[in-house]
Amino acid sequence: MVIYMTDTTTKTFTCIVCPRGCEVTATMNSAGDIEKIEGNFCPRGAEYVKNELTHPLRQLTSTVIIHGGIYNRLPVILSSEIPKDKMMDVMKALNGVEVTAPVSRGDIIINNVCGLGVDVIASRSM
Ligand code: SF4
Repeated sequence: MVIYMTDTTTKTFTCIVCPRGCEVTATMNSAGDIEKIEGNFCPRGAEYVKNELTHPLRQLTSTVIIHGGIYNRLPVILSSEIPKDKMMDVMKALNGVEVTAPVSRGDIIINNVCGLGVDVIASRSM
C-alpha cells in the first residue's frame, strides 16, 4: 500500500471587495503555490485572495495640516492603492505636510509620493 502525504497549508481571508464578506480559504502546497481557493461566492474573491498572497495592496486615507480652512486638518486620499508594505513610508511622508486654503477636492497635495507613481490628493474642498 502506498500512502501519499500532502504537505499543504491553508490560509483564510475575509474578502473585502464587497459587503457580503465571504470567508475565502486558499490551500497552498509546500512550494507556496496556490492549489485551491474556496468559499468565494464570485471570481473577484479568488482574485482578491491571490493578490493578498502575492502582492497585497491597500488604499490609505489620512489628513494633513491646513491653514486658513474651516478645520485644522484636510482629509486626503491616494489616487490609487499602494503595496501594503509601503503604507508606513507614505504616512511618514504625510507627517508634517502643511497646506494653505483654499484647496479644491482632487488637488494634488504630494505628487508621486515615495516614488510609487501615486499622488496624495485632497478628498474635499476647504
Ligand atoms: S467573493 Fe465575491 S461576493 Fe464574496 S465578498 Fe468577495 S466580491 Fe463579494
